[in-house]
Amino acid sequence: MPKKQTLRQTGEFSLIRIIEQLGSSRLPASVIAGIGDDAAVVAKDPDSCLLITADCLVENTHFKKDYTSAFLLGKKCIAVNISDIAAMGGTPLYYIVCLSAPSETPVRWVKDLYTGMKRIAEQQGMFLVGGDTVASEETVSVSVTVIGEAKRQEVVFRHGARTGDNIFLTGYPGDSALGLHLLEKGFPQNSGNRLIKKHHSPVPRVDAGQALSRRRIASSMIDTSDGIVSDMGHIMAQSRVGAKIFTRKLRLSNSYRKYASSLHAEEYFYPALCGGEDYELLFTAGNENTEAVKTLEKELGIPITCIGQITKNTGQLEIIGMDGTPVRLERKGFSHFK
Ligand code: ADP
Ligand code: MG
Repeated sequence: MPKKQTLRQTGEFSLIRIIEQLGSSRLPASVIAGIGDDAAVVAKDPDSCLLITADCLVENTHFKKDYTSAFLLGKKCIAVNISDIAAMGGTPLYYIVCLSAPSETPVRWVKDLYTGMKRIAEQQGMFLVGGDTVASEETVSVSVTVIGEAKRQEVVFRHGARTGDNIFLTGYPGDSALGLHLLEKGFPQNSGNRLIKKHHSPVPRVDAGQALSRRRIASSMIDTSDGIVSDMGHIMAQSRVGAKIFTRKLRLSNSYRKYASSLHAEEYFYPALCGGEDYELLFTAGNENTEAVKTLEKELGIPITCIGQITKNTGQLEIIGMDGTPVRLERKGFSHFK
């Protein structure tokens, strides 16, 4: 008799593959991309398509009420979904919210949650169009679905990376993970600390995603929700390529360098490589687009840094340390159930 596997033994990503096999066996032609990318892509008319994505934030898994106000949580749960639309090069349009909360939750808390959501939604020109409300036993969970759109020809997938492409990352990696670390150590959430701010209020890179797709710069793209190493793994798997990332090329923020200077040498790059929830864009582009990336970096005023190259070694991610030798990582990034 085969042993019964638990979710812990199977892990998040294998579980998603099992779910995918149990889903619709033949998808209609209108589904341009189903499970497997940052958002599903569904034909709307001959020129454009809808992008559909969902993310669920669960109390004590993704946030603790002790150090996350309802307002900040509301902002974040919309931002992380928008980030998935940005990773496809699209524009977010509508959102739907399923809320489960214990009966004792103050109405004020829910009002603050939705005020936070609206703050980000209004900035992006998005509208709340529905949802569901249920009572839960003990903890709050907020599940958000965002619907966006893009021109069909402009959607960027995880599967387009080619050998020799450069790998780029927007922003500064690892700040969110360090911010969470500070919160867990008891730093006050409203201390104004940059790392904590990055953890609570990620800025989805919608403008960057749209420019990278419209200008045909990116050959593949993903947003960094689980850390560069894990998210690069998705691009590698879907593009059937390998990748080389150089720690000396990672652009670390001043706050990161200040805070991480107290870490042991082997731990120094860990938050940047494997820390989750940065919600930056990780993308690949051919050499012919290097100038276009530099132009975009200047236009947007955000760092866009080349951190490595795509290789032909399918499935192999090499991390090259400061001394030029490969780095071995004990842990690879965030995955649920492990
Ligand atoms: P992201 O981090 O970009 O939100 P995920 O790793 O959560 O992406 O999901 C990867 C893909 O698997 C997406 O296409 C998502 O829609 C799909 N997926 C994840 N969980 C489920 C599920 N329980 N049922 C169906 N599809 C799922
Ligand atoms: Mg994503």
